[in-house]
Amino acid sequence: MKILVAVKRVIDHNVKVRVKADGSGVELANVKMAINPFDEIAVEEAVRLKEAGKASEVVVVSIGDISSQDTLRSAMAIGADRAILIQRPNDLVLDPLDIARLLQQVVITEQPDLILLGKQAIDNDCNQTGQMLSALLKCGQATFASSIEIEGALLQVTREIDGGLETLSLSLPAVVTTDLRLNEPRYATLPNIMKAKKKPLEIQPISEMDFTPLNQVKTLTVTEPKKRVGQCTLFNDINALVNELQAKNVF
Ligand code: AMP
Repeated sequence: MKILVAVKRVIDHNVKVRVKADGSGVELANVKMAINPFDEIAVEEAVRLKEAGKASEVVVVSIGDISSQDTLRSAMAIGADRAILIQRPNDLVLDPLDIARLLQQVVITEQPDLILLGKQAIDNDCNQTGQMLSALLKCGQATFASSIEIEGALLQVTREIDGGLETLSLSLPAVVTTDLRLNEPRYATLPNIMKAKKKPLEIQPISEMDFTPLNQVKTLTVTEPKKRVGQCTLFNDINALVNELQAKNVF
């Protein structure tokens, strides 16, 4: 079984994001970048399936500028076997439908049995690409997976839903998007980071692909959240807080 995992390079989740002065987006210059956390979980799951003897190859793919090579190397340090970078120019912004159309081309070439994506990219919070990809491929999808098991030619996926767990059975090939509780990704060890530098990474320029962006969604403006107004008061005990709230007629 071959597993394809889509990984995106995003601003590291520990970094405080700053909006550009002209409101055209967020500041990316000199900002620490990392693999999208949900995609790291997807890579970890694929590697665990390989280690359990259920998968034979794990291929990671990213669509981004040349610096996305780092993200792919991080995924290979976790244990992916090889990587594909669909290289786009720095200034080409692609919305989720265009990303899904490009991933569809990779799926057609690679013919994976299972396609794993994160449930959302933490930079745009779209939560769309996996769903669109499965529609383009006309295959089954299971979103927000908290457990994945392979039973012969079928996939069993558990999803956390309101008030409980839902377990689905899907035929392969299928698209699955990962939720936070699926696993805890391992730290890449130094030897594995070194090994990852030697693993194959194929760069495919977008200009050489049969692809024209649809560009159906454009970002108009990005603004900072409103600053909190008012002072913060610390109370030493709960009674003082209740008295204050009663004095203000809060209840
Ligand atoms: P989104 O729909 O943008 O929230 O992204 C959902 C998932 O799609 C991500 O967690 C990734 O697995 C995948 N994805 C989105 N953008 C890219 C990209 N540029 N390259 C590779 N995978 C991507």
